[in-house]
Amino acid sequence: MAVTTKVFTLSTQGNNDVVDLTPMVGAAVDAAGVTAGTCTVFVPHTTVGVTALEFEPGANRDLGEVVERLVPQAAPYHHNVMDSNGHAHARAAIMGPSVSVPVLDGRLALGTWQSVVLVDFDDRPRERTVYVQVQG
Ligand code: ZN
Repeated sequence: MAVTTKVFTLSTQGNNDVVDLTPMVGAAVDAAGVTAGTCTVFVPHTTVGVTALEFEPGANRDLGEVVERLVPQAAPYHHNVMDSNGHAHARAAIMGPSVSVPVLDGRLALGTWQSVVLVDFDDRPRERTVYVQVQG
């Protein structure tokens, strides 16, 4: 079994910014040349989540509004005695830092409307790293 890892960097706006990772993940799968296997997308950050979503403006905005209802930015957080982004850490922990997608016939087995997205919950623009590891 071969393992191929690609590292990407990107800029985000923070504040629930949703970034479509599908093109870069698909390119990593193409480059790996794997017919059948697994692709893992992981972010090494504590205020970013990765999930699957229909990437369109309404759904992206809905997600931001849902996380605001679940984990309000203005609520009190113990972390905020040393920082200003307690809400972002909690949101990221709930969403999780990775997704795995099967690779079938050399392609990501995503549904028609499914995209792999990064959501940056931090309260300011950031530079982010994304690991895409393909095994097969
Ligand atoms: Zn913090």
